[in-house]
Amino acid sequence: MQQTYWNPTMETMPREQLRVLQDERLRAIVRRVYESVPFYRHKMQERGLTPTDIHGVCDLELLPFTEKQDLRDHYPFGLFAVPQTEIVRIHASSGTTGKPSVAGYTSGDVDRWSEMMARAMYCGSINKQDIVQVAYGYGLFTGGLGAHYGAERVGASVIPMSGGNTARQLMLMEDFGATALCCTPSYALNLADALERGGISLDRIKLKTGIFGAEPWTEEMRLKIEEKLHIDALNIYGLSEVMGPGVAIECMAKNGMHIWEDHFLAETIDENDKSQPYGERGDLTFTTLTKSGMPLLRYRTHDLCNLTDEPCPCGRTHVRMSRVMGRTDDMLIIRGVNVFPSQIEHALLQVQGIEPHYHIVVDRQGSLDTIEVQVELATSMMSDTVRDLEALEKKIQISLASHALISASVKLCQPGSLGRSEGKAVRVTDKRK
Ligand code: ADP
Ligand code: ZN
Repeated sequence: MQQTYWNPTMETMPREQLRVLQDERLRAIVRRVYESVPFYRHKMQERGLTPTDIHGVCDLELLPFTEKQDLRDHYPFGLFAVPQTEIVRIHASSGTTGKPSVAGYTSGDVDRWSEMMARAMYCGSINKQDIVQVAYGYGLFTGGLGAHYGAERVGASVIPMSGGNTARQLMLMEDFGATALCCTPSYALNLADALERGGISLDRIKLKTGIFGAEPWTEEMRLKIEEKLHIDALNIYGLSEVMGPGVAIECMAKNGMHIWEDHFLAETIDENDKSQPYGERGDLTFTTLTKSGMPLLRYRTHDLCNLTDEPCPCGRTHVRMSRVMGRTDDMLIIRGVNVFPSQIEHALLQVQGIEPHYHIVVDRQGSLDTIEVQVELATSMMSDTVRDLEALEKKIQISLASHALISASVKLCQPGSLGRSEGKAVRVTDKRK
């Protein structure tokens, strides 16, 4: 596989050597948080730990976890490890319930983030020849600015569109000749459909690569988007507490996202709070090794995935994380069965005749949970008879039962009738809440 690396030394560093670097960086970060963040000092003291007890990655399990709630309890700046005068940027996650979680960046942090996003761009063969349309939201959300700085770092021409305004996105995509698109996968699909509806043929569009993330999506969705836009669609992962987009990114092998391990130590944690061997699914947990503004020890993302250190054909040595099935908070419990919206997406996309636009409505009748899956028909199905549509509904129900283990009612909707996302898609309406 032909690959160019942004930072060959780091990206292809032999794992033993990477471990030595991680050991050194972990010792330093533990000392720093102990000295400068009262929250961590107390947590370590409670465990009878001092920084000298941590010799390296082998001692990681001695360290305390950090939860999103800890960030909220120390809202807004209580976990910052530097004086406010050193902070040059503040981001925050949406915080649907209560206060958002806040992250502060020093100029060094912004620089490292840009560097990691530059590596991500190179993973997608995006370089200074490219014109990058950033359609992630700009603002407190990290998506827009994260992608922006990375694309600029590789010398690409950046179009800072932000999210929404779909007609204008398409006009500029065509007129400026954008070759790469950064946005959520659901918005990419939305843009692809709008192109089709607007009768803009793909030969007027120069897109080659999409860097899509910030929400769970499936392999089937990747294939749909790639087919509709004739591009390579790569998965990118991140979260504002840990940095923002670019914590991990797929290479062209499309077989999992490389986590930049010179900056982040990743673990997956099981239900008993134990760190698991690679290959086992668990709660993805990060220790930041180089963050200066807000270093975190063992931050529980509650994103479920597994890790692998199997060699990758691209030559990068950093471990890869699988697709995220969803956040544990997004898991639906329907009559005792646990299901993630991404499993429903997977089940739907096994069936021909529907489009990957769907919405899930959960309710309760008496003491029984009900789930309705609304999905759009493909335009080609619109002329079908009632009997054909009933048969299609049945097929979808069977797929949902076998792939997502739920018995759901299915509502087939007119093409274009379900709400479209401009950022992170809202897949579920839970009327039980
Ligand atoms: P918010 O908490 O407001 O959603 P963030 O942008 O920090 O703000 O969200 C980070 C979360 O988004 C991650 O913890 C994860 O659940 C989800 N996420 C980000 N990238 C991906 C991805 N590629 N696949 C699945 N989920 C993702
Ligand atoms: Zn790779």
